Amino acid sequence: MEEFEYYVPTTLEEVIRLLIKFGRAAKLLAGGTDLLVFMRQRRITPTCIIELNKIRDLTAIEEKQEGIFVGACVRLGEIERNSLIRRLFIHVAEAAGNVGSMQIRNLATIGGNICTASPAGDMIPALMVSDAQLHIAGVKGRRIIPITEFFKGPGETRLEETDVLVGIYLPLPKPNTGTAFIKLGVRGAMDISIANVAARVTLNGTLQRVEEVKVALGSVAPTVILSKSVERYLVGASVKEAIERLIEKAADSVMDEVKPITDHRASAQYRRLMAAVLTKRALRIALQRAMEKSML
Ligand SMILES: Cc1cc2nc3c(=O)[nH]c(=O)nc-3n(C[C@H](O)[C@H](O)[C@H](O)COP(=O)(O)OP(=O)(O)OC[C@H]3O[C@@H](n4cnc5c(N)ncnc54)[C@H](O)[C@@H]3O)c2cc1C
Repeated sequence: MEEFEYYVPTTLEEVIRLLIKFGRAAKLLAGGTDLLVFMRQRRITPTCIIELNKIRDLTAIEEKQEGIFVGACVRLGEIERNSLIRRLFIHVAEAAGNVGSMQIRNLATIGGNICTASPAGDMIPALMVSDAQLHIAGVKGRRIIPITEFFKGPGETRLEETDVLVGIYLPLPKPNTGTAFIKLGVRGAMDISIANVAARVTLNGTLQRVEEVKVALGSVAPTVILSKSVERYLVGASVKEAIERLIEKAADSVMDEVKPITDHRASAQYRRLMAAVLTKRALRIALQRAMEKSML
């Protein structure tokens, strides 16, 4: 590894000042579980590292009037265990619980998972189906980008050189909503996903019809994708029809939307098939949870 200067600022303003000063030579460090691997492999050679973990604004999970705000430096282990997240966004806790080993989850942050912008990042599909909004601070002040508009390609985001992801806002789910996250990896959670899927299903007031549905798929295209075809099959359908027939059809339809590659983990053909299998399972679990929740 090359030598580098190491800074531990305590405010966002300081971080931005350092980013302006060092420009491309600087890299932000949260848990370091991606950054240090890339540095060891010399895929990046920053001469300035700016650690984010001492900035209070970035490390809290806060309950807001209409949702929750998760600081970018909150560890995935904390997200997995947090009772508020488990109650309102169980699929987000499930995604966090599926990242690597416990040791990795105790270091890795939600912000790092998003900013690495891996097509296989496990948090991204879960956040997408919950309409997550990313709060970003930069030289021109603060701005909000929906997570669906954040990724430009593998490893590429809309963050500028002097931007910091501050946190993620998750709006509260509507009543009668159920969600699920499922990952396929050779060694389960210990492995980067071969494919992963998050689903959200909202039923109408009488629990007879599907009112809204969202499915996001990872590791099957250059960026995580939100399915359009699943909505076409399921929105407005009766729950009975969905269970008996339409979930199967909707899940099969994602095979035409994904653009997987073949790599050392799996072939493109296997990924395409698994995208449909995981979608079917995630939709069934989400629907079941929507019905159970409404009975509480
Ligand atoms: C053994 C192992 C197993 C793994 N398994 C999985 C897995 O199963 N699923 C999975 O999704 N990932 C997995 N990963 C990848 C990794 O753990 C996650 O992507 C992790 O969430 C990254 O978070 P971090 O805090 O460690 O990020 P860092 O390594 O600290 O940072 C990652 C990148 O994001 C940037 N960054 C970090 N925070 C911010 C911020 N607030 N604002 C702007 N930029 C920022 C950094 O500059 C860097 O470019 C694994 C990694 C290892 C080493």
